[in-house]
Amino acid sequence: MEKATTLRLVLGDQLNERHSWFSKVDNSVVYTLMETRSETDYVRHHVQKVVGFFGAMRLFAEYLRSKGHRVHYLTLDAPDNRQTLADNCRMLAEHYAVARFEYQEPDEYRVDQALRALSAEWPVETRCVSSEHFLSERDELRRLFSGKRTYLMERFYRAMREKWGVLMEADGRTPLTGRWNYDAENRKRLPAGVRAPAAPSFERDVSDLTALLQRVGGVRTIGHIRPARFDWPLTRVESLQLLEHFVRERLPFFGDYQDAMAQADDVLFHSRLSFSLNLKMISPLEVIQRAVAAWQERPQHIPFPALEGFVRQILGWREYVRGVYWAEMPRYRTLNFFEHTAPLPQWYWTGQTQMNCLRHAVGQSLERAYAHHIQRLMVTGNFALLLGVHPDEVDAWYLGIYQDALEWVELPNTRGMSQFADGGIVGTKPYVSSANYLQRMSDYCASCPYDPKQRYGPRACPFNALYWDFYDRHAERLRGNPRIGMAYQLWDRMEGRERQRILEHAQRIKEHVSDY
Ligand code: FAD
Ligand code: SF4
Repeated sequence: MEKATTLRLVLGDQLNERHSWFSKVDNSVVYTLMETRSETDYVRHHVQKVVGFFGAMRLFAEYLRSKGHRVHYLTLDAPDNRQTLADNCRMLAEHYAVARFEYQEPDEYRVDQALRALSAEWPVETRCVSSEHFLSERDELRRLFSGKRTYLMERFYRAMREKWGVLMEADGRTPLTGRWNYDAENRKRLPAGVRAPAAPSFERDVSDLTALLQRVGGVRTIGHIRPARFDWPLTRVESLQLLEHFVRERLPFFGDYQDAMAQADDVLFHSRLSFSLNLKMISPLEVIQRAVAAWQERPQHIPFPALEGFVRQILGWREYVRGVYWAEMPRYRTLNFFEHTAPLPQWYWTGQTQMNCLRHAVGQSLERAYAHHIQRLMVTGNFALLLGVHPDEVDAWYLGIYQDALEWVELPNTRGMSQFADGGIVGTKPYVSSANYLQRMSDYCASCPYDPKQRYGPRACPFNALYWDFYDRHAERLRGNPRIGMAYQLWDRMEGRERQRILEHAQRIKEHVSDY
């Protein structure tokens, strides 16, 4: 065995070919990537997620070797695999007799803590470097909102636009077109017959990885996979192809139909880039720059509100939730503002519910490990909040089921935006709705056994009674919120008998939710 001076750890979500580490080949450095049980088992993941991570890591290791770098890759079944990051690092440091250990800033609190603990107790010199991916520092949001109780996303987003000069006039302070935000324009229902263009296919055979999971045994996963036709981008080249397809074919309609939902199309005009971004195969800056360049090339094809809406997701929301995560962890994952305690209905794991919107959103999540933002927020998240599910259970579901799920981005979206368990750090009001919103934004209700107009009775849509029940039971906490006043005015004006029937029906749903 040839000795090395430095061991560098590359985590599964740090597959950044353009990191400065790789700019020159140095034979005294060994890079390590490792598949471990600590990562497969900290939550029950979708099987496509485990396979997607391992597949992308293996291809990244091949890429590094092809460029001349020394790589030590530990497969899940390697006899010397100690199955945790820290134990493997110790074992490899000894094996290569290194004097130095280096790692990139991890994005997950859990991993950050583990590597800090390792560094603190270790005799070898350790160094943590930037992952060179994000557009804001970990503590940038905390500094911007120093002394404030809530963090306004719009303020953060504007600061980021100014910082990076994205969609700004030459003076650096005025937004292009004079307007910062076109959100109000981006809420159209999908007209009948409109379809998104076919996305590029990355189908490959991943039977070796599904066989590996079976062979080692004990890795509990959810969802389905077709091993011979696995269709997520696993390399930078494929991720760039997906980006190119998006900016050419989907971005023009992204704004209009961002909030729409349709039975015939699970993705609509969304990009499906989150997995590539979260594994750092591509960078947020290059995604934004490519979208802006596509608009400059064909301004007549890409409406500015579509471009702004897309830029806001990446330069705004994605950086913002990361800032919230680092400002609020570890207490954030314990917050439960409404003191909700109900279990997650069993059909979240099977899709076996009669409610058409939920059957679709859960079913496609199990099938594809993907649902777009409004499905996550206004279908599965909305129902869990109305039902009063404990946020721990909601988090575990979201952290497991989606291909792009990593705690730094999942947690503020789920516990904050979707469940309002942070009491309003992320959102100014809970995202709840009755069937009215779902009927307006989707075609789910047309083929549902439940009637979106009825509030109680055997055919009444369960969202309706639960919606009023939610406001009624949380009146003390929510009545004073100026953004919710309207709902309470309507509730107060409703006749007493009507309110009683609604609440009785809600109670029935809560007691027998597995039958719905
Ligand atoms: P597009 O609609 O095409 O958006 C483009 C990109 O913008 C995304 O790829 C993503 O990187 C970014 N983005 C958009 N919205 C958000 C947001 N709210 N927060 C952070 N980034 C955003 N996103 C994750 O990446 N991982 C998660 O674990 C995750 N969990 C979520 C849980 C809930 C309850 C909710 C409501 C949202 C969650 N999101 C999560 C945010 C968002 O739903 C996904 O990023 C998006 O659906 C991914 O699909 P896409 O790439 O087609 O996105
Ligand atoms: Fe969902 Fe209710 Fe519409 Fe059925 S009627 S699809 S349950 S919102």
